[in-house]
Amino acid sequence: MPWQGSLKHLFLFDVDGTLVSPGGVSRGLLSRAITYETGQDIELGYNDVAGFTDLSITRHALSNLNIDGLISPRLLDVILERYLAYVKSEFTQSAEPFVHDDCIAFLNTVENAGHATCLFTGNMKSVAKIKLSRFGIWDRFPFGVFSDDAEDKNSMLRIVQERAWDVLEESFRMEQMVVVGDTVQDAEAAKENGCKSVIVCRVAEKKEAIDDVGPDILVDDLSDPDLLNRLYH
Ligand SMILES: [Mg+2]
Repeated sequence: MPWQGSLKHLFLFDVDGTLVSPGGVSRGLLSRAITYETGQDIELGYNDVAGFTDLSITRHALSNLNIDGLISPRLLDVILERYLAYVKSEFTQSAEPFVHDDCIAFLNTVENAGHATCLFTGNMKSVAKIKLSRFGIWDRFPFGVFSDDAEDKNSMLRIVQERAWDVLEESFRMEQMVVVGDTVQDAEAAKENGCKSVIVCRVAEKKEAIDDVGPDILVDDLSDPDLLNRLYH
């Protein structure tokens, strides 16, 4: 479908690596919560977390610890509750996290063009709220879809459609939705659901893998003021 400037689109913003850089803070806190509740040392790396949901990261980490018999919904719950408590007390204290100004510029452009926006993140809602509130941008998004809603990003996009209807009372076809993210998983979720995608590659060695998925736009940063126009040309 050709780009129609007058047609309203829904832009779905990822959080970590797209809107904000959590530094290593959130994965460090999740590692600590898992270690506390299982008694087993674990250190989550970038590849363990980027593109995945808090729930799937935790489930996967536990399965690697070979304590399969002990993995219960209750254990997952207590780990994620402890993680949330750590984020509450420590995320706002750390000097590591920062907001990606290029993404805020793109968000401004998208809003000024009259498009709708929402959040599309593997963070739990409560965690996303803490991260974005720190930088004063939580209230800019009328709704979001989170780790609480689905275990992977592929299945989140249908929920985005439902929620857009509930909150905005507008219906968006998949091809009217644009994923703004930073990972292979973001690009794949868009592709498999028939959405468009703008992917910002913040980690140079991931570029080839993201490019292989074929996002509509792949950039090193989102500051090009012409990005919105480039999406359909
Ligand atoms: Mg991300």
